[in-house]
Amino acid sequence: MQQSRSYQDVTLITPTAPMSPSVHGGRAKCLQRLIRLDMPVPTTVALSFSAVAKIARGQIPDMATLLAPFGDAPLLSVRPSSQSPDWGGPGAILNIGMNDAKLAELTKRAGFEAATALYVRSVQSYAIHVARLDPEAFDFDKLSNGDLLKATLSAYAEEADEPFPQSPVQQLSDVLRAMARAWDGTSARILREAKGAPKDAGLGLVVQDMALGVGAPESGSGVIQYVSSDSGQSQITGRYLSQIQGRDALNDIEGALYLTADARGASLEELCPPLFQKLVGYGDLCRTRLREEMEVEFTIENNDLRILDAVRVQRSARAGVRIATALAEDGVISRQDAIMRVHSNALSEMLHRQVDPTATRDILGRGIAASPGAATGRIVFTSSEAQASAARMEPCVLIRRETSPEDIRGMHAAQAVLTMRGGITSHAAVIGRGLGLPCVVGASELTVDTQKGVLKTPDGRTFRAGDEITVDGTTGQVLLGAPKMLEAALDDAFKTLLSWADTYRDIGIRANADTPADAQTARNFAAEGIGLCRTEHMFFADDRLNVMQEMIFAETPEDRRQSLDRLLPIQRADFKALFTIMQGRSVCIRLFDMPLHEFLPYDKAGQRNLAAQLNLPLSDLSHRVAALSEYNPMLGMRGVRQGITVPEIYEMQARAIFEATVDAAAVGITIVPEIMIPLISAMKEVEIVRAAIDSVAAAVQAERRTAFEYRLGVMVETPRAALRAQDIVEHAEFLSFGTNDLTQMTYGLSRDDAGRFMSQYVQKGVYAEDPFHTLDIEGVGELLSIGAARGRAGRPDVMLSVCGEHGGHESTIAFCRSQGFDYVSCSPFRVPAARLAAAQLAIVESGYRKR
Ligand code: PEP
Ligand code: MG
Repeated sequence: MQQSRSYQDVTLITPTAPMSPSVHGGRAKCLQRLIRLDMPVPTTVALSFSAVAKIARGQIPDMATLLAPFGDAPLLSVRPSSQSPDWGGPGAILNIGMNDAKLAELTKRAGFEAATALYVRSVQSYAIHVARLDPEAFDFDKLSNGDLLKATLSAYAEEADEPFPQSPVQQLSDVLRAMARAWDGTSARILREAKGAPKDAGLGLVVQDMALGVGAPESGSGVIQYVSSDSGQSQITGRYLSQIQGRDALNDIEGALYLTADARGASLEELCPPLFQKLVGYGDLCRTRLREEMEVEFTIENNDLRILDAVRVQRSARAGVRIATALAEDGVISRQDAIMRVHSNALSEMLHRQVDPTATRDILGRGIAASPGAATGRIVFTSSEAQASAARMEPCVLIRRETSPEDIRGMHAAQAVLTMRGGITSHAAVIGRGLGLPCVVGASELTVDTQKGVLKTPDGRTFRAGDEITVDGTTGQVLLGAPKMLEAALDDAFKTLLSWADTYRDIGIRANADTPADAQTARNFAAEGIGLCRTEHMFFADDRLNVMQEMIFAETPEDRRQSLDRLLPIQRADFKALFTIMQGRSVCIRLFDMPLHEFLPYDKAGQRNLAAQLNLPLSDLSHRVAALSEYNPMLGMRGVRQGITVPEIYEMQARAIFEATVDAAAVGITIVPEIMIPLISAMKEVEIVRAAIDSVAAAVQAERRTAFEYRLGVMVETPRAALRAQDIVEHAEFLSFGTNDLTQMTYGLSRDDAGRFMSQYVQKGVYAEDPFHTLDIEGVGELLSIGAARGRAGRPDVMLSVCGEHGGHESTIAFCRSQGFDYVSCSPFRVPAARLAAAQLAIVESGYRKR
């Protein structure tokens, strides 16, 4: 790491000393800020990253220089100071310099009991954390303090083969060496890298004069924070213990005092009113001058207040949003700062119940985190059991090898879904996200026997229907039982922050919404419109699936016409509902794209039901299922191919859209519907479908004696459509990139089967990420760029968007912005995070610098 000349390896922290978080770490810099604010911080010296790296290699800095500011016979603490507090570091070591002479001095100041107890703790801590001796050697029961000290010192001498070092210089050198080496250890490295630290992240150390916290009259240690970590609301919390030193000691709740006056017991506010008022004042100072809510660690020594440290208050996602907006509303930070301070994923967390981060997790297995949030329920293995369970008001988790449209009712009834197969764009995943239902897919390490009703975990445990488990769709874990949960929380601060974000955002955010319920969610989250309505999904609910299956299984055009006549009013009503909910905002409707295999009942029970419904012998139905089966259904009779070969289907849909447009206009809702054709690979397909749709529009306009506008566009989901975008736009006013299929076809990777080996592929570094989850900018992205450029060459004002599952991710939004796309569309529950991420990207691009 480059180090400016003015930075020293060893620096006494003063208001003006050269000090930087990237050289000395965040803690050192923060202590300097506290000193600049005139807080009573004990004398502190900072060791730079480079000094600590040298110490790890055995080069101890000049101890005379280091110790000079602390006077003779110092008593010191050493704390880690990494660049970001989140990256952790070795634990603090206190009371360095404690020895026989110091014992005598402290006995005079604080009394024999306090002084010996302190000496014992110091030797133990040094023995375990610095000399790395066996902790059990220092376990002594029921000895008086004096005897305990003798026993501890002789245990040290025995275990270490030398007496406890009396020299402060030796103690400090050993502590520095131990902490520097701990930072270099493999587990510390892995832990911090998991939290985003770079490989070469440095560690700084701060050496501080101990404020004792023991002795008479009032001495002790405490921590105080000024907002609630759960809600972010103003509230003084923390604890204070008399005759105690060190943050760790504060974990002992017994004997702790309340901070503010409290009817339940003694409080610091009543015990030391002026000191308490000072602490409150320091909280305000931190907030306004450090522009952050801090947790302050303090010590009282003989009624004298010392501020040892201050760290950013730990916060839930919800508290993070409230703290940021409150700081901006009070003019402490700018609105841009507030937007930049909240991680977009935190917003997604707020929309769903989550497993409490402090809860103990008994992990039964892992899969792909397909739909965020967590839910607990009793295991069911079939959709009908899920419905029965819901009818009994019993929360359940639906476990399937994979789901199909027949499971939709079961998914609606369940609290969460777990599948053994499938990837991030499989049926269960897409529907789960749409419903806001926690979902883990592709949990292939778990085995399920749906016939016997048994779930087996990799460690050999078995579970049956009725056993309670939790699905954590945020982490992809399946957990035993019912861990503690944090509730979803949408509050004013959330709405305020997002309304600010919208003022900076420069790319549209729409929602993928298939039903009126989804559209309502999209509206609630202020989506600018619907970017993808998968019309076939409208038929997954209730008994509509039957009508759809009748249509698919119709053998004669007459039978098909009858089914379509039944579908028309259903579709019209749905579209009118969407238009009404969206109140004039854009609605982009995709014509049917039914991979037939998703609608065919393969099991005997499903076939029996359908045979009864269609009034056909079971054998006839089985033959038809066999006749409709395809080797590669995702590359088979899907999308526009159905539209070309059975044109009545798209004609019915176009009519439903246009009639709904006219009906909506009659009640004052003007809408320009966008109609989108799926799975295009050739210009001629668009030309043929466009001609049919235009003629339906003309017919409806003539019948209803009214005019309306509409736009027709194409989903770019095949590489060929991207390559031929220039001809395609001759008949298409917009191109919406369906990156799920486009990824599938670019990689030649089945979106339904890739889950089986994707985690291995990612673990082995074959792919950096699951390309169904994170848009592959290099490959699929290049097709997007080519498609966009060629589309614009044919039609300069062509509207461009992404509507695959990647749409809501920050990296996709960044890419789409860079390519000048008009909008991205994502699941309704992702909309808030996408709005925030888009604003953050625009703010960064405008040259924003963190203050
Ligand atoms: C896509 O392929 O990206 C898409 C949005 O369509 P679907 O997921 O319905 O195939
Ligand atoms: Mg698709």
